[in-house]
Amino acid sequence: MKDLLAYHDRGYIEYIIQSSKSVSDEQLVSSSSDSDIAFGLEDDCPPFPGLPRYVQLVAGASLTGAGVLREGHADVAIVWDGGRHHAQKDRASGFCYVADCILAILHLKRASPRPRIMYIDLDLHFSDAVSHAFASSPSVLTLSIHHTSPGFFPASPMALLTPGDTNDLSSLSLPLQAGASSPTFARVWKLVEGVKDTFKPDYVVVQCGVDGLAGDPCAVWNWELDIGVEGSMGWCVEKVLGWECKTLLLGGGGYNSPNVARAWAYLTSIACGSPLPLDMTIPDHQGFPEYGPSFTLDVPRGNMQDTNKEEYLQEIEASFEMLIRRLGERV
Ligand SMILES: [Zn+2]
Repeated sequence: MKDLLAYHDRGYIEYIIQSSKSVSDEQLVSSSSDSDIAFGLEDDCPPFPGLPRYVQLVAGASLTGAGVLREGHADVAIVWDGGRHHAQKDRASGFCYVADCILAILHLKRASPRPRIMYIDLDLHFSDAVSHAFASSPSVLTLSIHHTSPGFFPASPMALLTPGDTNDLSSLSLPLQAGASSPTFARVWKLVEGVKDTFKPDYVVVQCGVDGLAGDPCAVWNWELDIGVEGSMGWCVEKVLGWECKTLLLGGGGYNSPNVARAWAYLTSIACGSPLPLDMTIPDHQGFPEYGPSFTLDVPRGNMQDTNKEEYLQEIEASFEMLIRRLGERV
């Protein structure tokens, strides 16, 4: 409870924790009450049996990951159930009930001497809650690479491309347009490296949402896994691991379950220093039929056209080059 209150409002946490004590499982899965709605427990965040335990486990896992990094027991920690980047201080949002990313960053922040923490969000959706939480923070820099367009979740003016002359150099936003694929990521990754080189983080927290991979039902981006392809998700995560900062890898969105399992298994192998071959066959298990028709580990790029044109990429570069310059003056 105390750990959750490091960020969340007491009213929200008490409501979540007590919800299973006073309400039967049948009632929990029935329609939302007025209180449920006030705390965001509706639509894509319904109350469900086991919610109190779930919230404590997700937060506890990410805090444990942050703890082992802070105490020097590991250089890389992985929590694929974490990365709930939409959960707000006082309500659930976008499939996220607990702000484990924020809690983990706050835990890292308390290390001594005071560390610099960079949060990178690779999920298709903007990291609204995390970016808001650390806006104007001198020791935490958030950089969200995501898609945004009218009506696309989450609605936030901060999801637009951060202008070079922004007042807030702590919450950076790099939106990509539909069909974003590895060459586009390779191009903007130079800017990510520039931000890192300037900010010089001690810790990096990476939200590895995989809803931007090809084959996801969101069907907005056309990203792929293969570490051998410049700008792929595997390549980007390997680059971060090569920074030799203490790194917390978190999960996130992803709605094609076999591809989510593939991606996080593959990223785990990269973090362990021995990437699995992507043509390897999925081992036989109960869920094996779900992995057809390829039955291999790979999530290859699809046929969607990348609409991130040269003009737009130059606009991103102009903004970020100015941001990096100004960040250098501040640091
Ligand atoms: Zn997402």
